[in-house]
Amino acid sequence: MSNSRIYVDNSATTPMKKEVLTSMLPYFSEIYGNPSSVYAEGREARKAVELSREKVAKAIGAQPNEIFFTGSGTEADNWAIRMVARANKAKGNHIITTAVEHHAVLHTCQELEKDGFEVTYLPVDEFGMVSAEAVENAIKDTTVLITIMTANNEIGTIMPIKEIGAIAKQHGVIFHTDAVQAIGMIDIDVNDMNIDLLSLTGHKFHGPKGSGALYVRKGTKIGSFITGGAQERNKRAGTENVASIVGLGTAIELATSNISEKTAKLSKMRDYLINEILEKIPYTRLNGHRTQRLAGNTNISFEFIEGESLLLMLDMKGISASSGSACTSGSLDPSHVLLAIGLKHEIAHGSLRISLSEDNTMEEMDYIVNSLIEIVGKLRAMSPLYEKVSKGNA
Ligand SMILES: *Cc1c(COP(=O)(O)O)cnc(C)c1O
Repeated sequence: MSNSRIYVDNSATTPMKKEVLTSMLPYFSEIYGNPSSVYAEGREARKAVELSREKVAKAIGAQPNEIFFTGSGTEADNWAIRMVARANKAKGNHIITTAVEHHAVLHTCQELEKDGFEVTYLPVDEFGMVSAEAVENAIKDTTVLITIMTANNEIGTIMPIKEIGAIAKQHGVIFHTDAVQAIGMIDIDVNDMNIDLLSLTGHKFHGPKGSGALYVRKGTKIGSFITGGAQERNKRAGTENVASIVGLGTAIELATSNISEKTAKLSKMRDYLINEILEKIPYTRLNGHRTQRLAGNTNISFEFIEGESLLLMLDMKGISASSGSACTSGSLDPSHVLLAIGLKHEIAHGSLRISLSEDNTMEEMDYIVNSLIEIVGKLRAMSPLYEKVSKGNA
């Protein structure tokens, strides 16, 4: 086991599937035409792009002409929020979101505040859940956009998207959801859920990095984000990244073809991991919702532990996980998500995210649990505070 690494950071990115790579390869060299060209090479590239568009549309219950390819999930979020805000300025300047969104959403909203928009950052409960009722109560005459993620990337909490979509529709407010973590894990139907805009990205479901898409419901008022040529029906200029788009199509088709089977396997491993850690290691707590939770997500806080030390020692044992404490290395700020669910700074700093994929095994879960028991024991043995507490005179 120690010879091969255990990768459990699938919420950060996933390895590309062989089938995905195979489907992409011809489009780097043999089929190199520009999809906008009218001759045979161009037409062949165009065909591949449109086939991929159909696959993405089918995966979320949309029409192909409602899918626009982007260079990332971040770009899709930026486009949706900025360009809906701008296009609907005459109606109002109010946006509703939550305190636990990805930075691609939060930082975009903060930018818009500088431009005179008013943003409501709804709080979440101790499990990371926003209530649909709170969303409804926040709506004003000036509200032009609700942007709330389908599932949280740090603690895995699945938001009541269908209820929020119904409320948005009832009040005539445009509803965007960042579904980056949800694709391939939750069945999504943009019509059933009344979603007007949806962001996704290939590399979170075994597709290529730098391949994303924005779904835009027909008739939604939104401007183009990147101006230039007429690609993507005048909405997103720049020659299409054909190979990447093909890979995105292959990956989303694979990822959404076996959701129930996959999530059954993942949640079994996840629940085993959670129960073992909470039972065998004292002073631990689960972050996020116990059941309304992404199938592969585990997020646990270890008291008296520095998350970064935990990560380094796991790395030495061949385990690649993520600390829940900082989104990007170099940042010492505790996670805004963990603070939003009410964790104290020191507890938030001792958090670990383990995010699984179909490639993981039960045997690996045992190795992770045993490694954690050993590492946490070692780190706590060096903590004067833990010594005090464990002797009962804290
Ligand atoms: C990863 C992620 C993004 C960003 O997607 P990129 O393609 O890496 O830019 C946005 N939102 C959520 C919830 C994510 O997990």
